[in-house]
Amino acid sequence: MTEPLGSIAELREVLDAGEVSSVQLVGRALARAEALGTRLNAFLGLRSEGARADAARSDERRARGAVRSPLDGIPVAVKDNMVMQGEPTTCASRILEGFVSPYSSTLVEKLEAAGAVVVGRTNMDEFAMGSSTEHSVAGPSHNPWDPARAAGGSSGGSAAAVAAGIVPAAFGSDTGGSIRQPASFCGVVGMKPTYGRVSRWGLVAFASSLDQIGAFARSAAEVALLLEAVSGHDPRDSTSAPEPVPSWGQALDGDVSGLTLGLPREYSAHDGIDPAVLACVRDAVAELERAGAKVCEVSLPHAHTAVATYYLIATAEASSNLARYDGVRYGRRAEAARGLTDMYLRTRSEGFGAEVKRRILLGTYVLSAGYYDAYYRKAQQVRTLLRRDFETAFRSCDALVTPTSPEVAFALGSRTEDPLRMYLSDVFTVSANLAGLPGVSVPCGFSDGLPVGLQVLGPPLEEGRLLRIADTYQRRTAFHGQRPPEPV
Ligand code: GLN
Repeated sequence: MTEPLGSIAELREVLDAGEVSSVQLVGRALARAEALGTRLNAFLGLRSEGARADAARSDERRARGAVRSPLDGIPVAVKDNMVMQGEPTTCASRILEGFVSPYSSTLVEKLEAAGAVVVGRTNMDEFAMGSSTEHSVAGPSHNPWDPARAAGGSSGGSAAAVAAGIVPAAFGSDTGGSIRQPASFCGVVGMKPTYGRVSRWGLVAFASSLDQIGAFARSAAEVALLLEAVSGHDPRDSTSAPEPVPSWGQALDGDVSGLTLGLPREYSAHDGIDPAVLACVRDAVAELERAGAKVCEVSLPHAHTAVATYYLIATAEASSNLARYDGVRYGRRAEAARGLTDMYLRTRSEGFGAEVKRRILLGTYVLSAGYYDAYYRKAQQVRTLLRRDFETAFRSCDALVTPTSPEVAFALGSRTEDPLRMYLSDVFTVSANLAGLPGVSVPCGFSDGLPVGLQVLGPPLEEGRLLRIADTYQRRTAFHGQRPPEPV
């Protein structure tokens, strides 16, 4: 088996020194992805030929002294809901079987412009609906720390691929926690930027008022570099933020003195929280205090409504977004249909999995005449209250610190029969999406050999502050340096 790949900085150093070529690095990433394939199920497809060709072009550029960016020649992975010209995109769904994209997402275009090499498409819950990748048509990804456990979701494949050292960096989408929760389960850093920071042109829509693209790596410093490369205004995404992208990486000075961290009272009192997770988070807060940060208690009085609000809004938007998969334009069409309505019915019945169907039904219900006011409109009103909770909290602190997930990675199969229990694992992450805030998860300890994640949330557009807190913490701790056991 090939060795795990090092960090972006380590790989760049050996590339610059001419000790290794991008073709060799990409070859190693592909070999490792294949060798770990069955064990982790992190990828839905590898771009073996395309990636090698891209790497060869990167090597040529380097030889000419025309390196495009610090990411030039670095192998990366992309969740299978961001399109790339000439490549399949499946969203881990049967309904997109056979779909090959005629265009590339802005994310992929920006990665190509930076010279990064996309080696493959990572596993996910079908249409990003889930917290464990168990809703993938290809079966779940496995947690590299314990293959009997979930890698988290919905971007579980991306998190597992980084944790297992297949690639130093990967991209995912976060609608209610799908970057931060798998990052926490797999012991890597995962960041969801502010709503609108990264263009969603070419990201398959799940819930458009919540969806945001973000990145995984083993350090906050690498995540800063990755997000700088892919953020920025894009006229093709009408929700794209017009603000310029700061040099987040350069601003990482290891200094958090002068920052006040707010601890939401409601979260530490949450019923379902594992005391071991809470203990790790408390230790992490103490470490940040030693680094000079101040700590205060804050209140998010509507926190208890977040999961319910999220599952009303997310399902409503999903039911509308997924109406386009009708067998006419994209992917799979059912055979032997009798007439148009029958074709729609069969295509959607055969093409969508149980969780996606459940959400389409829920979403259609909450939008239907007679229930709209009671559910959808009410959820939008509560969403405003949740956003105001954060605005008030950020008057007395610079960032909020919470557990990312109430527990460490759960056993595969332990939640699939109980959707509500699965939904509750999102209790600390969904609010950031409802309020449009940036959030990062950083490894902050282990419980029974499984990683624990610390979540840091900030006001809109304050990614730099969150990265500075996460980076300062990583300079003082070694959790992110630990690797899962190599398979024998
Ligand atoms: N687990 C949440 C859900 O199932 C969040 C998913 C996501 O962020 N894509 O909706």
